[in-house]
Amino acid sequence: MALTVQAVRGMNDLLPADTARWQQVEQVLRETVASFGYSEVRMPLLEKTNLFSRAIGEVTDVVEKEMYTFEDRSGESLSLRPEGTAGCVRACLEHNLIYNQEQRLWYMGPMFRHERPQKGRYRQFHQLGVEVFGLNGPDIDAEIILLSHALWQRFGIADQLSLQLNTLGSNAERLKYRESLVKYLEQHFADLDEDSKRRTYTNPLRVLDSKDEKTAEILKESPKLTDFLGAESRAHFDGLCDLLSKCGVSFELNSRLVRGLDYYNLTVFEWVTDALGAQGTVCGGGRYDGLVEQLGGAPTPAVGFGLGLERLVLLLSALDKLKDRRLADIYLMGAGEGAAVAQAQLALKLRKDLPHAKIMNHCGGGNFKKQFRRADKLQARAAVVLGESEIKNGTLTIKDLQNQEGLQQTLPYGQALDLLKAMLQA
Ligand code: ATP
Ligand code: MG
Repeated sequence: MALTVQAVRGMNDLLPADTARWQQVEQVLRETVASFGYSEVRMPLLEKTNLFSRAIGEVTDVVEKEMYTFEDRSGESLSLRPEGTAGCVRACLEHNLIYNQEQRLWYMGPMFRHERPQKGRYRQFHQLGVEVFGLNGPDIDAEIILLSHALWQRFGIADQLSLQLNTLGSNAERLKYRESLVKYLEQHFADLDEDSKRRTYTNPLRVLDSKDEKTAEILKESPKLTDFLGAESRAHFDGLCDLLSKCGVSFELNSRLVRGLDYYNLTVFEWVTDALGAQGTVCGGGRYDGLVEQLGGAPTPAVGFGLGLERLVLLLSALDKLKDRRLADIYLMGAGEGAAVAQAQLALKLRKDLPHAKIMNHCGGGNFKKQFRRADKLQARAAVVLGESEIKNGTLTIKDLQNQEGLQQTLPYGQALDLLKAMLQA
């Protein structure tokens, strides 16, 4: 046998049963962001590599070791997008969308990171991204968190996700904190895990995120960023906490929450679940007021989040919150002289009169027994049968496939249509 080619590791196919689930999820996401007045943007999957190294930061895991980077045929270094914020800011600057204007935007699509594939972690994965530009108060931070909370409510999973909240302060405050943290880490250097040793000098705040037990123990006594916050940062954070509490969103303060990308300041948050094992963060985001300027624009406050669709679909499936979709509502079948033409014509007519129904026309002939077996396999709601007498008399036979008794009626077109409408609504 010829050598078969397989998919790239960590990159998944979504088959019909999966896409039926994904479409339900995507529909709720789209409806919810629309209900908050957000508009969709679509960016390319490929960007110039330096966009990501400038935006995300040279010493982050993403840029250091997770990007799919290559030279195109003209020798330019390009990367598949590992996240959406950088490209979104680039697009807004390129098309002058955020100079002196507010924008509330969203996008949905694949992202690429060369990580070790495991449950909830893939090399091609999908995110819903939400980004807001031009607003600097805690009210908008609260709004995007309330938006994510509204999603969990619409899916019926709000009790499965908890909100972790932290503030990183201003750049100046963080810099001071960083110095004090590095000093502390140096005092305990010998006992840190290898990653944390390295990060002490490249990205010390990420050490706070370490999963290593010994490091975690050391961090219990480490300086806390909250002690370095000025009045303004404190007021911003208090304002956010107050808004969330008064809108019925509970949260947990987590002073070790730092997020993996370099561009965050002030608010950072994650929605976490216990139901998915190690990959428990379904959604994460925060404020990134410096990024627009860093990419060449005027100083512009900004805040956003990324939601991992694979993790959301896994969670919804684990909690049995997604309905299996019928592959066909109506299975149209026929046999005898002239059946193929009569079926094709009837299918056209039915699809005009029932534009939202999935009407599948049996092709390939064969006896009715075989055709009914197909209809059952698809779990169709009803069969529409065109036998010789129906074709001759201009009638249709409708068979209820969901009912054990198998109600069957032969009717003229108008009455048959009414019956089908009633069955599909039930
Ligand atoms: P993690 O800590 O799980 O690696 P992250 O901090 O790298 O996540 P972000 O860059 O903030 O994640 O992306 C936002 C969301 O996108 C994550 O919370 C997660 O749901 C999802 N996500 C990130 N990386 C992957 C991946 N490799 N596979 C599947 N989903 C992912
Ligand atoms: Mg990651």
